[in-house]
Amino acid sequence: MTTRDSILTAVALRKTYGSTPALDGAEFTILAGEIVALMGPSGSGKSTLLHCLAGIVAADSGTITYDGRELSAMSDAARSTLRRNDFGFVFQFGQLVPELTCLENVALPLRLNGVKRKDAESRARSWLERLEVADLGHKRPGEVSGGQGQRVAVARSLVTGPKVLFADEPTGALDSVNGERVMQLLTDAARSTRAAVVLVTHDARVAAYADREIVVRDGRSSTAERAA
Ligand code: ADP
Repeated sequence: MTTRDSILTAVALRKTYGSTPALDGAEFTILAGEIVALMGPSGSGKSTLLHCLAGIVAADSGTITYDGRELSAMSDAARSTLRRNDFGFVFQFGQLVPELTCLENVALPLRLNGVKRKDAESRARSWLERLEVADLGHKRPGEVSGGQGQRVAVARSLVTGPKVLFADEPTGALDSVNGERVMQLLTDAARSTRAAVVLVTHDARVAAYADREIVVRDGRSSTAERAA
């Protein structure tokens, strides 16, 4: 596969919660290493689309293909393995494990994959350095600021070398200065590891870090025209 092949594709996705349509024929394609922002007003279906693409939520109909494999045709166990090995996640509120130190949080995905503690922590340390929070390794999430916690969360999401990073409003709880810094660090790190990024945001300043924008409206998606 070349780096410009599409890695994740969705066709005609539909998803209804009770009588509420969340997705109504949404389409999506992302190339390997590409950074795409899903934009749109609250309630338009952005998070549902992200959760379907990541195999967390099953669509009612339509297909999602990751690296040549259709997600709905895979067993739950195979999808879990895929999520653990090939996908990374960053959410609005870091969702770090409060009882673990920041270093242990970043090492956790490696430990769950069977990597020995010493090796996992040394790789985690280098990721904390890349996110400019090396000095926070011994602190617990409750002892760091929101922006610092999100940097730790970004380090944790990339430590396993995922092919796709899913980021759902990753700066939604931060002020604009910290938000911009986290976006800069996140996109720099993703580009250096050639991870594709699916970024959900309603903030145009955040979307500006993406290569391309897709607008989601009433559960449908369309490519946005970008001002030059
Ligand atoms: P966005 O991320 O753009 O704010 P969502 O994907 O969260 O939009 O929601 C799309 C629509 O689906 C909304 O009307 C929302 O209320 C509904 N919805 C999303 N998740 C659920 C759920 N778990 N249960 C019921 N309705 C939901």
